[in-house]
Amino acid sequence: MSDERDVEGGAPREYCGLFGIYGHPEAVHKTYYGLYSLQHRGQESAGICSTGGGDLLAHRQMGHVGDIFTDEILASLRNPVAIGHVRYSTTGSSTIQNAQPLLFNYAAGPLAIAHNGNLVNSGHLRQEFESRGSIFQTSTDSETIMHLLAQPWDGPEDDRLVRALRQLRGAFSLLILARDRMYAIRDRHAFRPLCLGVLDGAPVAASETCALDVVGASYVRDVKPGEVVEFSAKGERSFFFPEKEETPAHCVFEHVYFARPDSRVFGENVHQVRMSLGRALAKEHPAAADIVVPIPDSGNDAALGFSHASGIPLDHGFVRNHYVGRTFIQPTQGARISGVGLKLNVIGDVVRGKRVVVVDDSIIRGTTSRGRVRLLRQAGAKEVHMRISCPPIAHPCFYGIDFPNPEELVAARMSVDEIRRHLDLDSLGYLSLDGLLSAVTNPRGHYCTACYDGRYRVPVHEKFEKLRHERKC
Ligand code: SF4
Repeated sequence: MSDERDVEGGAPREYCGLFGIYGHPEAVHKTYYGLYSLQHRGQESAGICSTGGGDLLAHRQMGHVGDIFTDEILASLRNPVAIGHVRYSTTGSSTIQNAQPLLFNYAAGPLAIAHNGNLVNSGHLRQEFESRGSIFQTSTDSETIMHLLAQPWDGPEDDRLVRALRQLRGAFSLLILARDRMYAIRDRHAFRPLCLGVLDGAPVAASETCALDVVGASYVRDVKPGEVVEFSAKGERSFFFPEKEETPAHCVFEHVYFARPDSRVFGENVHQVRMSLGRALAKEHPAAADIVVPIPDSGNDAALGFSHASGIPLDHGFVRNHYVGRTFIQPTQGARISGVGLKLNVIGDVVRGKRVVVVDDSIIRGTTSRGRVRLLRQAGAKEVHMRISCPPIAHPCFYGIDFPNPEELVAARMSVDEIRRHLDLDSLGYLSLDGLLSAVTNPRGHYCTACYDGRYRVPVHEKFEKLRHERKC
């Protein structure tokens, strides 16, 4: 993952990772390993909820997967059906109350939910519920889904679910666990990834295929836009909740930055896409340079593509300290600042006297990029050029990526040349939107590109604030 956005608050911060498995004797341990492999999608809290047909058992805690789940905890959850969640707070604060899976009891029994994405109408829905006396236990948008599901209903359970899902607007990949069923669900535009696999005959669901690989499951398919897949003792069943079919709006930034390079997301391998982005970047913005230097880790694949296409050799001018952690993913400015300078170091002997072209996936605030350029110049680089494997990010994301406020996005305030001067670069080139969309294989209208072009597929009427549901107490 890129560390351009790491310290000093440069980060677009995600959000969440999901893993679930139905009917496997090692379900809880598999979920633990699945979450481990999805840790890049959220490091603030993690939880696992399991059932054997009776009560739902859950353990949720702040921190990293590896620190949270001891052998004893995993043994206490031991059941053949489990869902798990890793979280970064895109809405709601970083507290244990907001850690998922959320667990509720309603008239039809206990229910657990794990959510990846952001709803754009949860404020409105929550206000309605609260005006009728409902009490919310968390400050997340995900709880709204539980309240919708808990509404009185005497028809079939499918219709209860469909009624609730139809009221949601925005991005949601969901795993829902009841005593006798597990659901895997994707919103009508399929903003966030969610795939299905199989392990020893047991169905598995995960945010990314890297989690399937880790537990030894085989990839079967992606959950389709608007699809509900139910797993129960009767087998697997699928139906669609939207009134009409909608055009997908897959988050293209998953390919640029978030997903792991070994995952298949939206039907294609992330590493291959990033290589293509790098090749397209080299064609659009060639550089007269001696070496291509990636910003590790998320610049690695695009830099390789840039090197292949340009013929300029790739070298590792930066070394990442893997023991610092993804400082940017921590929620407070203070916590992020504590990681400054620890994360990447320059190998002076590689860059000294060279014309260096640095490849990264994005520039958010610009603060950290500036620091990197300074390090290269101090180490004796003769020229520093920067190439970015996506267009300038000038608009906020309302669908689950926690970009900073628009006024903090450097591309919302400055032209490309102003950014170049601000970062003290000899040249700066961003991949065009056409270049980005030519590197992915789905039809171009099937991706969300709102943070680049301001075209929001799902209109946003609510004023979005991360902590909009927060209550002072
Ligand atoms: S606005 Fe950007 S980050 Fe957000 S879903 Fe769309 S492409 Fe992804």
